[in-house]
Amino acid sequence: MSLIESFKGIVGDVNVSEGQIDRMVYSTDASRQKGVAQLIVWPSSVEQIHKVVMMARRANVAIMPRGAGTGMGNSIPNNDVVVDVSKLNRVLNVEKGFVEAEAGAALQDLNKAIGSQFFPVQPESRKACTIGGMIASNAIGVKALEFGRMANWVEEATIVDGNGLCLKLKGDALKHVIGMEGSTGIIVSAKLKLLEKEGKKSITMLGFNTLTAMQEKLLELRADTLARNIEFLDDICSEMLGFAPKLHLIVEYEGSKGNLKEAEAREVWSAREQLPFLLGQRKHLAADDLLLPLESIPKFLHVLRKDNVPCYGPIGLGIVYPVYRDDNSLAGRFRGLYRQFGAKLGVKYGHGRRKHTVPEEKARRVLELKAHYDPKNLFSRGKLI
Ligand SMILES: Cc1cc2nc3c(=O)[nH]c(=O)nc-3n(C[C@H](O)[C@H](O)[C@H](O)COP(=O)(O)OP(=O)(O)OC[C@H]3O[C@@H](n4cnc5c(N)ncnc54)[C@H](O)[C@@H]3O)c2cc1C
Repeated sequence: MSLIESFKGIVGDVNVSEGQIDRMVYSTDASRQKGVAQLIVWPSSVEQIHKVVMMARRANVAIMPRGAGTGMGNSIPNNDVVVDVSKLNRVLNVEKGFVEAEAGAALQDLNKAIGSQFFPVQPESRKACTIGGMIASNAIGVKALEFGRMANWVEEATIVDGNGLCLKLKGDALKHVIGMEGSTGIIVSAKLKLLEKEGKKSITMLGFNTLTAMQEKLLELRADTLARNIEFLDDICSEMLGFAPKLHLIVEYEGSKGNLKEAEAREVWSAREQLPFLLGQRKHLAADDLLLPLESIPKFLHVLRKDNVPCYGPIGLGIVYPVYRDDNSLAGRFRGLYRQFGAKLGVKYGHGRRKHTVPEEKARRVLELKAHYDPKNLFSRGKLI
């Protein structure tokens, strides 16, 4: 029996496709890089996922789990069978302090289901991204300085591994799946921690004409225990959002230290959330996710400004996103400079097959974990290692 017929036997005829259009759609993600999807399977239960994995094991074909495909390069298949988990999309249980959801549930739906409680990791892609994709990418939200990333908010994750075992991971074992970009197993559901509600906050927006002045303030703010989030906009991004064409720091404070009224603060955050889309409209689509040593930030931003490359990001964490145009060669030139600034790539979007960005220690760890969870190397071949 052919591979496609075998998968049809598991998930039904309409839930498998090797059609040209489907393969084209699934050969890429939000980064628009191109890979090859061999065929696509849409299981709708854990049992079907288990059977799909066992079939891939027998046939020795690579499989790549996929959520909403909003990844910026880490959900590009490499001739894999793409296992789209979007049919496992239920929010299973909400209680005080916790929510359980299937891996394909969109964050937006989870936000609605939890009512007045609050899930603190809210990436800009939250309208589409799924819980499984967020866990596998160890996603960070817009307010990352205060709330950290997914790893801080996952209580349990259930996976189907490459041996076909359905495992509930807790505590330290969660590290075997969080941020592993689907290379150790398919996440089928998770229990996440919730906050009762977001504490009272206020914001101030500070404008600067020079990088030196901004850096001085940034250092001061980093020492301020009430400053919970510090977000950077360069002059290009500021202007795009309708603010004065200056460098800006948006500072969110615990309590009422910030000087903007509540409605103004809401406007600032919602403008900020439009930024990736506005940049995209201007063909600035190639965003890099860089962690920079604090002392390198002004020098790096200075170089970007000379060539009008827009840049923004949670600078309080040392993270910035320069966003290159798709159609010019600046990106290559700047990427050549990253090492000299001590920048690390992959802090937000993961590494995917950008192997040169994976720290050696992580690659070693992934190999060890794969030997345990995926000895036949079925999952996401060539990612991270
Ligand atoms: C406009 C825009 C804004 C963004 N903003 C942010 C942001 O603020 N913060 C941030 O962290 N990221 C951001 N991203 C990147 C992306 O949205 C996140 O990484 C998101 O968590 C991916 O979720 P997804 O469901 O789309 O996963 P996908 O793109 O489908 O997959 C992402 C990775 O997870 C793996 N995966 C998916 N589902 C599973 C599963 N069930 N089991 C195992 N592995 C799985 C895939 O193999 C892949 O490696 C942004 C992207 C865009 C396009």
